[in-house]
Amino acid sequence: MASSKGKTIAIVGSGLIGRSWAMVFLSGGYKVKVYDNQPGQASRAITDIRKQVEELQEAQMLRGKLSATEQLSLLSSHEDLSQALEGAFFVQECVFEELEAKKSVFQAVEKLVGEEVVLSSSTSCLMPSNVFSLVQNRTRCIISHPVNPPYYVRLVELVPHPETLPVVMDMAYELMTEVGQAPVRIRKEIDGFALNRVQYAIIAECWRLVKDGVISVKDIDLVMSEGLGMRYAFIGPIETMHLNAPEGLEDYLRRYREGMKRVLSSFGPVPEFDGEAAARINKEICELIPNDQEHLSARRERRDQLLMGLAKLKK
Ligand code: NAD
Repeated sequence: MASSKGKTIAIVGSGLIGRSWAMVFLSGGYKVKVYDNQPGQASRAITDIRKQVEELQEAQMLRGKLSATEQLSLLSSHEDLSQALEGAFFVQECVFEELEAKKSVFQAVEKLVGEEVVLSSSTSCLMPSNVFSLVQNRTRCIISHPVNPPYYVRLVELVPHPETLPVVMDMAYELMTEVGQAPVRIRKEIDGFALNRVQYAIIAECWRLVKDGVISVKDIDLVMSEGLGMRYAFIGPIETMHLNAPEGLEDYLRRYREGMKRVLSSFGPVPEFDGEAAARINKEICELIPNDQEHLSARRERRDQLLMGLAKLKK
């Protein structure tokens, strides 16, 4: 990619994800302009980002080649959308996960930017053909779906609209790589993209096993955190198959194909995730981690510390 330094990225929506994206792009040396439609919200976001960036520098966890001061000098907040978009070559939308809100944001943004500006959405599970349905030129539209928090969890799912030009996909891929994320290309739109399809498959089977009294909440979470999750932080399921038989994937299939099919065919229907089962599972998890802010915040903080450590280890 041609030198991107000095270029501007606009963030529309300055909540949890908007702030984290801003930090990611700052770490790559981009000028970042943050906009939010709630008065005062963008400037509160800036205050929070400043604090986080300074703390990260102190903890020697700051990403990128620039110091905290250098990164923060590239950051600004805006109460006016057109001002925030001025000069931007890439717009990352991070507003509420509501289709109508996103559709009207992109309609408004398109009226204020040139044809060449890439319009990117952070949506977790809305389809590109819906999100961009009010945009006239959809060839420059893309979903860049991060994982929370994108500063520590590097994966970004890039999902094209059916009309998105390959060059836009390539440009987003290069941008994400340049700022230190780990982009993947979803070749065509599909509900849940890849991450949530896999995540929901795991959640569904864990839920069924607990619901049917096969295992406790504590133990099914250990199956992931002390078992599968340990290696999945480094190698994916296909590589795992390849490594788990002496002669690789084909050998694995020879040995385990029938067993996999037998187990998979015993899976139950999609759970309802409500009623007595939900109440029981909730009770069990709350006995382990009470659902008050103090306990939940402490666990989140611990999670983020471990993610930070893991991110450092994987560098
Ligand atoms: P959030 O509620 O923390 O922040 C949303 C922000 O958007 C708020 O500051 C709000 O004032 C602002 N906003 C709402 N409407 C707006 C508009 N029309 N114009 C400008 N600003 C507007 O939400 P979040 O968790 O940051 O999620 C943002 C997006 O990121 C959602 O699409 C969500 O699905 C996606 N996402 C979230 C996560 C996550 O775990 N939180 C992970 C991946 C993707």
